[in-house]
Amino acid sequence: TYVIAEPCIDVLDRACVEECPVDCIYEGARALYIHPDECVDCGACEPVCPVEAIYYEDDLRESWAKFTADNARFFSEP
Ligand code: SF4
Repeated sequence: TYVIAEPCIDVLDRACVEECPVDCIYEGARALYIHPDECVDCGACEPVCPVEAIYYEDDLRESWAKFTADNARFFSEP
């Protein structure tokens, strides 16, 4: 799955939302999140992000690894 990391916080540019063919990018209070079960790994969102916040999960830098869980948690909270 693709993951939205730290640069999105308080930016929420939303260019990715327009690009996603399966509409699996959702808006939280301070950042956007990718639903890990709905993402089809097409990669369309990644190049359009103006702040380079989106990465394939395996390509996340180590310090942002927690964002994989953060994206998933957004969808598991009641
Ligand atoms: Fe949507 Fe494709 Fe990005 Fe996954 S990789 S969030 S399916 S645009």
